[in-house]
Amino acid sequence: MRWNTHRRILSSVLRSVDYEFPAAFVRGLLKGIIEPDSIPDYVYIAVRRRRRRYTKAVPARQHGGVDPALVKYYTHLALYHYRRGELYDAGRALGRAIHYLQDGVLKRTKWLILDIHERLEEEVDQLSQSSLSELMKACTRIDVKIKISNEPSEVLCYAIKNTYNVLKWFTSELEKDIDKASVMKRVRRARLIKTLVGSILALSGLGLLVLNFIASIFLFVVALIVASYTSQSYWEAFRAGLMKIKLSRYRTAM
Ligand SMILES: [Zn+2]
Repeated sequence: MRWNTHRRILSSVLRSVDYEFPAAFVRGLLKGIIEPDSIPDYVYIAVRRRRRRYTKAVPARQHGGVDPALVKYYTHLALYHYRRGELYDAGRALGRAIHYLQDGVLKRTKWLILDIHERLEEEVDQLSQSSLSELMKACTRIDVKIKISNEPSEVLCYAIKNTYNVLKWFTSELEKDIDKASVMKRVRRARLIKTLVGSILALSGLGLLVLNFIASIFLFVVALIVASYTSQSYWEAFRAGLMKIKLSRYRTAM
């Protein structure tokens, strides 16, 4: 999607979201909305060459589906910075998330002849200039569920809806009162549990010998459940601006 299209959609949706964002935050948003094209995020992928396996960092995909991990990371990073009063970086992070959300519906260039992709971006851009306010009204009323499209109005509708939803979610998060002490308490408890489960897991290897197979599987499942519970409290602390999470398998730009 073209930079002007990205910016135009963002500006229109910003006006329709009933919230007074600070100027520094909006400046960051306008920077972040186009930034992934010049400063990409990288994802590590496994490659095999000459019978050897190694990992390679490739730029995260932008078209042909939204990468949920990256969007989750950047929306949370935005809250993290906002809660710490770093408004420009908060805007930048949210802008990056919105960039991915807007681009996601466009069919991937790789599978299309370049001409078609160019023409589609041109058409989307044209459409966004002429009737964005009209489209916005239509889009907020209907529920768009398309994943990938090369129909300009669908692409725009999807981008508008995603932008609107993420900004709404962000403002609803900002309105929440956070009890930092209790969030940290949950994180400390999660850390303790994690250490305990780590030990149990190590023992469950032994358990194979001492106990039996079923018992080991049971311990493993318990460990999985605990891991997801602890990760929830980490993400909560991330949103609260208390600790930063590093996204595994990615080398992020921020
Ligand atoms: Zn892009």
